[in-house]
Amino acid sequence: MANKIHVEIITPTRTILKDDFSMVVVRALDGEIGILSDHMPLISSLLEWPVKLKKDDESECFVSVSGGFMEVRDNVITILATVAELPEEIDCKRAEAAKERAEARLTGKMTDEQFDHMRAEVSLRRAVGRLKTVELNSHTH
Ligand code: ATP
Repeated sequence: MANKIHVEIITPTRTILKDDFSMVVVRALDGEIGILSDHMPLISSLLEWPVKLKKDDESECFVSVSGGFMEVRDNVITILATVAELPEEIDCKRAEAAKERAEARLTGKMTDEQFDHMRAEVSLRRAVGRLKTVELNSHTH
């Protein structure tokens, strides 16, 4: 593959993906970043959002990454995330339930003595990111 970028997505317990792509798009704290080969060296914090991976033949896939860091250097992208899933690993019912739970907490429908606003927000973002990953993958060819 010409102009390839080697991508590794790693969690503390496993390597989720290790392959070559022609383009990668991530959602970083300061916005969306598209990376082609020969991108300048970069370290960035990622949001809980699907990472888009595109092959030379225009086929693409999405991987759920729940935050973490990305390093870009010498046409190698390393994404280190506490939690990440391939689309086929995502349990949509579980993500829907997590989303509803977090929304109920955030809108005050669920009272909890030790309510942790930040935790509920992060949980909501993780669940929405997982559901988005499945949705985006269902449109790929
Ligand atoms: P829940 O509230 O449903 O437990 P969570 O966002 O709190 O979700 P995490 O702490 O992010 O869960 O992840 C714990 C483990 O469960 C990780 O290994 C993660 O990959 C997996 N996991 C979480 N949600 C899902 C899901 N909807 N489908 C598949 N795996 C999931």
